Amino acid sequence: MVDLQSQYQRIKADIDRGIQEVIDSAAFIKGQKVSDFQQHLEQYTGAKHVIPVGNGTDALQIALMALGLKPGDEVITPTFTFIATAEVVALLGLTPVVVDVEWDTMNMSVESVRRAITPRTKAIVPVHLFGQCAEMDALMSLAKEHGLYIVEDACQAIGARYTFPDGSVRQAGTMGEIGCTSFFPSKNLGCYGDGGAIFTNDDELAARMRAIANHGMVVRYHHDMIGVNSRLDSIQAAVLDAKLPHLDAYIEARQRAAAYYDKAFGGNERLLIPGRSEHSTHVFHQYTLRVTGADRDALRNALQEAGIPAMIYYPVPLHMQKAYQDPRYREGDFPVAERLAQCVLSLPMHTELDEEQLAFITGTVLKAIEK
Ligand SMILES: *Cc1c(COP(=O)(O)O)cnc(C)c1O
Repeated sequence: MVDLQSQYQRIKADIDRGIQEVIDSAAFIKGQKVSDFQQHLEQYTGAKHVIPVGNGTDALQIALMALGLKPGDEVITPTFTFIATAEVVALLGLTPVVVDVEWDTMNMSVESVRRAITPRTKAIVPVHLFGQCAEMDALMSLAKEHGLYIVEDACQAIGARYTFPDGSVRQAGTMGEIGCTSFFPSKNLGCYGDGGAIFTNDDELAARMRAIANHGMVVRYHHDMIGVNSRLDSIQAAVLDAKLPHLDAYIEARQRAAAYYDKAFGGNERLLIPGRSEHSTHVFHQYTLRVTGADRDALRNALQEAGIPAMIYYPVPLHMQKAYQDPRYREGDFPVAERLAQCVLSLPMHTELDEEQLAFITGTVLKAIEK
């Protein structure tokens, strides 16, 4: 699905130098590289505060801890997402309330969110799925109307840009009270291990989240709140700081590959290309087809036989996961998400796809669905 080796070869000198500097300095935790990367990411995203943490799941957990929610408070998430989004809600003793998604963009349906709001609702966690922002303007109006927090799950969408009706543009993760991202190796800005970051423009929330990520500690060995241990280590920060200047070029490479796929598949009656939001750019963490007029699993097998990886993100919506079974929900409650789980197929998507590979992939797909 990704080609991290070729990507590394292009910037090997910078990455190797950054890692070597960390080893030479022996500042493995909270070193200069971490503060450098934090600053550069603040500049890139326009977020007032970037708080580097251990991974994207921790970012989400720390964000929710900082909001001071109480057991039983409801947090709304889409049912079609990676499990981490709801996992942290459940872990904290909060109540996950899941909603359906849109067929075209596969992002959270604003209408479903509106219907799910109760007096106990405290926060909405929109997921910018596959690299495209959810409908933030409508979600933010809804949140304002009902006094709710928004915590963006921007783990798949770093660098995506959302245009508001007044023409202002903001990046994924910098629109809600808090935004979270992941630097897992296959994410659009990936390190060589685990990593994540939290974004906020709120000074007080930033201070609280910095403390929570560090055992709830503000003054050394004085713990003002219950915290966790979650940090981005210096070697990962060195890798990320070397890659960040290339992020826009990486996004463009993904968009070029997506355009190639679109051209090959657009108008085909057996499958649908990813729907686009009117307000967000798409940074294509995944290029996800909906296979509506052919056998999705047979297509996946045919691709695998040709040596082309293809993945199903995601085969089971949250409300149908064993660990999240809940008498409030049953099969059939979220028809769009359930239908997507049956028909989605993500094709290889990364920064190093060349024309020859794209021609081979699209040719193999087209041949397989004709059968
Ligand atoms: C990757 C991902 C996460 C979790 O990030 P990790 O760094 O793996 O913990 C959370 N939400 C979504 C939507 C993701 O894609």
